[in-house]
Amino acid sequence: MKLNSPLQVYKYLPQINCAECGDATCMAFGAHLIDRSKKLEDCPPILKDKYKKKYIELQTLLAPEIRQVTIGVGENVKNIGGDDVIYRHQLTFFNPTAFAYDVWDTMPEQELIDRVNKISNFRKFYVGKFLKVDMVAIRCVSGDAMKFAGAVKKVAETTKLPIVLCSFDPVCLRAALEVVKERRPLVYAATEKNWSEVAELAQNYKVPVVLFSPDLDKLKSLAATFQEMGIKDLVLDPGTYPQGKQLKESFERFVKLRRAGIKEGQKDIAYPLMSIPLNAWLVYKDAVTASYWETVLASVFIVRYADIMILHSLEPYAMLPEVHLRDTIYTDPRTPVKVAPGVNEVGSPTKDSPVIITTNFALTYYTVESDLSSNKINCFLAAVDTDGIGVEAAVAGGQLTAAKIKDTFAKANFEIKEKTTHSTLILPGLAARLQGDVEDVTGLRVMIGPPDSGRIPGWMEKNWPPKQK
Ligand code: SF4
Repeated sequence: MKLNSPLQVYKYLPQINCAECGDATCMAFGAHLIDRSKKLEDCPPILKDKYKKKYIELQTLLAPEIRQVTIGVGENVKNIGGDDVIYRHQLTFFNPTAFAYDVWDTMPEQELIDRVNKISNFRKFYVGKFLKVDMVAIRCVSGDAMKFAGAVKKVAETTKLPIVLCSFDPVCLRAALEVVKERRPLVYAATEKNWSEVAELAQNYKVPVVLFSPDLDKLKSLAATFQEMGIKDLVLDPGTYPQGKQLKESFERFVKLRRAGIKEGQKDIAYPLMSIPLNAWLVYKDAVTASYWETVLASVFIVRYADIMILHSLEPYAMLPEVHLRDTIYTDPRTPVKVAPGVNEVGSPTKDSPVIITTNFALTYYTVESDLSSNKINCFLAAVDTDGIGVEAAVAGGQLTAAKIKDTFAKANFEIKEKTTHSTLILPGLAARLQGDVEDVTGLRVMIGPPDSGRIPGWMEKNWPPKQK
């Protein structure tokens, strides 16, 4: 039985409300355990001998429905799986789909290094953070164990990203594992033909392993066999076929496996799932068409229910939609995306620069900030704490008020009459109705900017600096 309410968790906690965990009560701590914002070990009393039995019980009862598997070591370690729900709105999805981009062992050395660097260095700034990709998947194309091991060594020397070793030949996998065993790579893959040799590798090298079969009964049987051998860090690949009826069946297999793992409690197949959108390149010969269909497949399986995928195209028109969709699906729907409230400098503002108000909803803030900086408008930009709500809704809901605006400057120790020569605030056009209140509460002049930050440059030309009264 999986615990899914604070009350259920509370029954297993010490119930002494000592607050050592940072919460006033054990019930409040239980809520944090459910949403995984705290760990069981954050409660010191439960680690004592007196509560040991409850601690062990709770560890089992709080474990995610889908096993969490760790790939890699150190700062770039990547967890996959670990989900508890079928639909994001029921809780949230944990551990965003890991993206592994391929290289292969027949590449010329410099080309291999350049491609690995391109994968490692990919960054896309979006709503206050960098979207990145996660792993390098090295495909054994040569069939030569030494050549494969050589390419793996070169990749390992070039990047700290986690590694996926791709070959159905246990001899090649063993040679590669010898080179990177301490990096905890993911081994791809065991099949109904090679399973016993690959299982031996997984046991000896203590690495996670992918089981591949598009036949779900065979996949289940493979998983059961590996579990009986004590190999629990498994990933299931039920096949990603890029076209027609086989694509439909691929999609259905992903859904069936995830439903069985979460809704039907079938623990023997409750493992992270791997999809391989790269397979689009096997059927589409034109590079742009193959990239397009690879992105379509990636989108389908980000949504249903791939925990890791292997991709090929490094073109921006393929990578950008993939990283953006993943970010959207794995953003916690219960938590508005916020930036820290405060008064920030854009460019190099002086005492004559404008002071512009916005909210701390990250999407709003970074849109305004980007419109200002890309137009080289030096200014002070105040992010008012509206609990991460945008301007129009925050005005309607009472989260953006004159008092909150005054408070933002007070907390930032930003005395406008001292820091500027104009003593003027610029409110967003969508907050125009606050003008009188803000003037009364702050004692400052208030100007009304445009409703859309994209129009600030034009507005500035006409209205800034403000005319003397
Ligand atoms: S530290 Fe443990 S016992 Fe103390 S309040 Fe938190 S959950 Fe309860």
